[in-house]
Amino acid sequence: MDKQIDMFDTINTRNETPDKEMPESVNLTKKQRWCPYCSKPVVFIRDKVSGVKRCPYCNISEKDYNVKMVNNNWL
Ligand SMILES: [Zn+2]
Repeated sequence: MDKQIDMFDTINTRNETPDKEMPESVNLTKKQRWCPYCSKPVVFIRDKVSGVKRCPYCNISEKDYNVKMVNNNWL
């Protein structure tokens, strides 16, 4: 049951308005992306079922428009 509550907490942290750009002070490592919904650097994890990389916190796909926009330096 504890695990389930944690999952709901994760969903609730998702921004209603995604970031349009990452803070200039943020330095991402090569593997990291800025998640516009979590407002933090995350390493997107490849989903074994769909083959798409997703944020491990909010489960957003790297193909999401806002994820692409906020990380425009790696397109
Ligand atoms: Zn996220």
